[in-house]
Amino acid sequence: MSKELFITTDLQREWMDTLSKLEYQIRSSAEETDRLAEFPKANIRSLVESGYTTLALPKKYGGGGITITDMILMQETIASYDGATGLSIGWHQGVVGDLYANELWEKNNLERFAKEILNGALVNRAASEAQTGSPTRGGRPQTTAVKKDGHWVINGQKNFTSMSPVLTHSLVSAWVEEREGIGFFLVAQSSAGVSIKETWNMVGMRGTESHDLVLDNVIVSEEDFVEFSKGKRGDKMNGWLLHIPACYLGIAQAARDYAVKFAVEYSPNSIQGTISELPNVQSHIGHIDLELMKARHFLYSVAAAYDDKERRTLMNQELGAAKHIVTNAAIRIVDQAMRIVGAKSLELSNPLQRYYRDVRAGLHNPPMDDMVITKLANAAVEGMKK
Ligand SMILES: Cc1cc2nc3c(=O)[nH]c(=O)nc-3n(C[C@H](O)[C@H](O)[C@H](O)COP(=O)(O)OP(=O)(O)OC[C@H]3O[C@@H](n4cnc5c(N)ncnc54)[C@H](O)[C@@H]3O)c2cc1C
Repeated sequence: MSKELFITTDLQREWMDTLSKLEYQIRSSAEETDRLAEFPKANIRSLVESGYTTLALPKKYGGGGITITDMILMQETIASYDGATGLSIGWHQGVVGDLYANELWEKNNLERFAKEILNGALVNRAASEAQTGSPTRGGRPQTTAVKKDGHWVINGQKNFTSMSPVLTHSLVSAWVEEREGIGFFLVAQSSAGVSIKETWNMVGMRGTESHDLVLDNVIVSEEDFVEFSKGKRGDKMNGWLLHIPACYLGIAQAARDYAVKFAVEYSPNSIQGTISELPNVQSHIGHIDLELMKARHFLYSVAAAYDDKERRTLMNQELGAAKHIVTNAAIRIVDQAMRIVGAKSLELSNPLQRYYRDVRAGLHNPPMDDMVITKLANAAVEGMKK
């Protein structure tokens, strides 16, 4: 079971080929990235050099104009090599895709920033804070933006800022008192008053170096006030967030491939042949492929619906459901893969223990499971009232 069934265009084939050339580099750096909790800078550099980070820009801005289906295919591929590299670059693809496809900013500003992306800029949203928890819950950022002398002055501290060692820009959320809502400001990493506080010390996705971003009287121009909203961010339909389940699907695929290879090679002297012929092991393998198939078909089906502008208007809670289904399936798949391999899966030199830790992080990326279920329930109840 793998993604080949979903590769249908020349662009996708070309990028599968390009990414396969980076496979050895990304895969072989994964253990060290995780052990040292050190950002995979060389991998991201290679992806920038390959043009990967310009793909989510629409063609009219000089980018690759990829669809959501293209993005998830590429993202699951990178994450199958290394989860931390996949999740990190996924944030950039997702932010750029959302910003441009939904034209969240004025055209001249989008054109200006597109040039930076074409020159290798890397951007992520810095939306989480210690006081708010997940921003999708609707908490008010403690980071503030105050207008002074025709500029915005930003103060605060964001946590969980993935890719912090290489970001050139962050889209920082801040409370705008004078408009009583939340603004997103494009902040260049090189601005005076911007610093990184190294707080990231997690068991999973260690290599993402998702440290705190500190903003101390950072001056931002009016043009870099990108977005404003009064509601919760989690309420907006954004297909570009499917890079998140794609990442965890890629990790699950890697775990499955490792375990099946192990099963066809491992031959303890209590049996003739290998453990792949044993009913207990075959049961795990079969269930893993069933889970993978369900998760992948659901994810790609939702992406295809979103890519079709007419069908998109009929979508209701499918994006959140895809995140829920794929992430939880990925956790179960890694668990079953470890059961196949047995105690060796716990050796620190074994990639399965890294997949086990990385895949858990998916639960804490948006949207969270309980929000998906609540929204499904609300949609069902509202639908019945109509
Ligand atoms: C690997 C990784 C990378 C990340 N990268 C980024 C990034 O680049 N940029 C970024 O901005 N963020 C990032 N995040 C942060 C992420 O989006 C969340 O903000 C963060 O994980 C905190 O979510 P939480 O659910 O644990 O926190 P909380 O919201 O504090 O939730 C903690 C617990 O309280 C419950 N809870 C809290 N509030 C409510 C509520 N209102 N209603 C119901 N239950 C509630 C939750 O269910 C949960 O059980 C990243 C997170 C991870 C794990």
